Amino acid sequence: MRRIGVLGGTFDPIHLGHILLGKQMLTQAQLDLVLFVPMARPSHRKPEADITHRLAMCRLALMNEKGMALSEAGIQGSVRYTADTLPYLRKEYPGARFSLILGADKLPSLPYWHEADRLFAACDVLCCPRPGISTDEALAKAREAGIHVTLVQGEPLPYSSTLIRDMTAQYLDAPGLPPDVLCYMAENGLYQPDFLPRLRHMMNPRRFRHTLGVRKEAVRLSSLHGLPIQKAALAGLLHDCAKGMPVPVMAKIAEENGLMADTSLLSSGAMMHGPVGAYLAKEQFGVRDEEVLDAIRSHTVGRPGMTPLEMCIFVADATEENREDYDGLKEIRALSEYSLAAAAARSLQLTEEYLEKSGRPFYSVSRQTLDWLLQSLTPAESARLRSIRRSR
Ligand code: ATP
Repeated sequence: MRRIGVLGGTFDPIHLGHILLGKQMLTQAQLDLVLFVPMARPSHRKPEADITHRLAMCRLALMNEKGMALSEAGIQGSVRYTADTLPYLRKEYPGARFSLILGADKLPSLPYWHEADRLFAACDVLCCPRPGISTDEALAKAREAGIHVTLVQGEPLPYSSTLIRDMTAQYLDAPGLPPDVLCYMAENGLYQPDFLPRLRHMMNPRRFRHTLGVRKEAVRLSSLHGLPIQKAALAGLLHDCAKGMPVPVMAKIAEENGLMADTSLLSSGAMMHGPVGAYLAKEQFGVRDEEVLDAIRSHTVGRPGMTPLEMCIFVADATEENREDYDGLKEIRALSEYSLAAAAARSLQLTEEYLEKSGRPFYSVSRQTLDWLLQSLTPAESARLRSIRRSR
């Protein structure tokens, strides 16, 4: 008979503690399969992320895991409790024997679960320790209530969805997340204030689409180059928050707050929307992280000494998927896979060439940034930049 472990939960979000729990049960309890069963409407608390997101994150986390699969029994009809999922699971896996898998934190409540008698007559329980949770008393109580519980010893991982949500709300990359899940969360702004309605209101649909594209590309590039992913996502999301403003309004904010060292640029929306965007991000969106504010500030014209996060936003702005094709786009994209500094330098070279052709001056800060970038490239990066330039 096929033995299936049922790991029900909120998975808000799924993390490596859940995956390890599944793995330990597979090997130590000799299960044939572990089913992850996210509950759409769990009875004990309202999840923060929508079930479609929680399912998508589970799919990403389980994609390459052998012996583990996702079940949608927890999203069917009026399912609210584990007992409600059994008819669906039996239909999906006829003839299988089901064991419920849980962490020790859930043990004390077992005798009070919905339809406990029926549920525990049909399924035994496999329990794994969790850091800081004592199991002995709860185990004895569950056994007194006639529940067949097996304690499966294993190395518990100190990860928790609650901790992950708390860190994510502060735009930190929480440990214990599969990399694809971390990227998915950042790309969708999960567990963070929802800035989308405000941004949609502040810009036209085309810029809004571009904004989402920059966030997506910033997440991909930051993950590829080992940069803080949540910060990149936030900077990508807010980078153009000032761009929809009329230039005189932008100029007033810039002047009143001394945002532009060169006051002759107070008529240039292109020059101002970076610094004014950083100002709005701080004052209206409550962003306090200086790295993020710097990335918003410098995203249009660059800055000598710019950080890798600033380069990431600068490059994502130039290469995001909704950008209409322009001369050199493929070159910047190709370089960005390899080096953000080289990609940023190529982007500035192309701007310089374009402005030269149309008889307009290259911004002096961009000139200084390009010189600084070219100087700071490694010999290998310089060679790659030269070769991509020659191959035109
Ligand atoms: P949190 O992870 O914040 O404590 P939770 O326990 O409500 O939230 P669920 O997604 O509902 O998270 O957890 C599903 C199951 O996985 C539960 O039985 C829980 O005890 C177990 N579990 C969660 N994290 C771990 C871990 N780090 N080690 C072992 N078991 C875990």
